[in-house]
Amino acid sequence: MDITVVVPLYNEEESLRELHEWIKRVMDENGFTYEVIFVNDGSTDNSWKVLRDLQAEFPEVHAIRFRRNYGKSPALFCGFERAQGDVVITMDADLQDSPDEIPELRRMIVEDGYDLVSGYKMNRKQGDPLSKTIPTKLYNATARKVSGIKNLHDFNCGLKAYRKEVVKNIEVFGEMHRYIPYLAKEAGFNRIGEKMVHHQARKHGKSKFMGWNRFVNGYLDLITLWFLSTFGKKPMHVFGFLGTIMFLLGFISVCIVGGTKLVYLCSGTPHPLVTSSPYFYIALTMMILGTQLFLTGFIGELVSRNSQERNKYQISEEF
Ligand code: UDP
Ligand code: MG
Repeated sequence: MDITVVVPLYNEEESLRELHEWIKRVMDENGFTYEVIFVNDGSTDNSWKVLRDLQAEFPEVHAIRFRRNYGKSPALFCGFERAQGDVVITMDADLQDSPDEIPELRRMIVEDGYDLVSGYKMNRKQGDPLSKTIPTKLYNATARKVSGIKNLHDFNCGLKAYRKEVVKNIEVFGEMHRYIPYLAKEAGFNRIGEKMVHHQARKHGKSKFMGWNRFVNGYLDLITLWFLSTFGKKPMHVFGFLGTIMFLLGFISVCIVGGTKLVYLCSGTPHPLVTSSPYFYIALTMMILGTQLFLTGFIGELVSRNSQERNKYQISEEF
């Protein structure tokens, strides 16, 4: 099979038929063998019924139904598990992404040898308010910096194409769909490209991701990913390091406090209490913090040693 299209959806009943028709037209024009996997993420409208009708008419339509709304990442994950095509395309259900981009995206994977090609919504900027474009720019700049994928402008574009191997070897969880290129890179797929894609205003319904908290959560997720990829398998390296620094600072302060006290005692001058020195408090705090960080490191090591993932490495070939 040439292509699997994975479409996560949440309350998109009005768009589904049109989207499927459009995908089908493009596939038939290009002679691709394909399947479309719709993942119904706990929709409360008629989406499931529409999907049932579609499947009765078209055998290439498959659907997964979540009992409740889990989010876009779990939806993609389950779609990826089922995908059989050599190239997997993800696309939003709201008709904002154009299926006309599919042949070129596929060509970039098959002929140019990319592992992952991400869309870059080029004609989006005109319509959006500054309150949306500025945070988006900032967010993408941070993601580029942290992930080290310098050539991506738009991490969060719903339209992406993957080599099948990629989707079978990454685990999209929580809200990590925003950072799939980063996940792919961490799994060792580093030929990551970008293609300018057409993007339109939403036709029906309204956006499922609103408000400022998505940016706060987005940044927190980025920090988690960074931490997991850098120290996930060796937590002691970060906590042990911080703990040692703290403990050293505390130790130096103890020496200062003890040293001054000794000097006073030997010279026989009247001496103030050690508790009146600021170094006393610095020493106290730093040594406690240092010990705790160290212990956190040990606990982190215990946790990672016990985890199912402790010996999970990406192997690309074997004889
Ligand atoms: N979506 C989903 N589960 C959710 C939220 C969204 O499957 O909990 C789907 C949604 O139906 C759409 C895609 O994810 O197909 C992108 O959502 P949306 O268009 O609302 O995001 P935006 O384009 O505004 O960033
Ligand atoms: Mg959308």
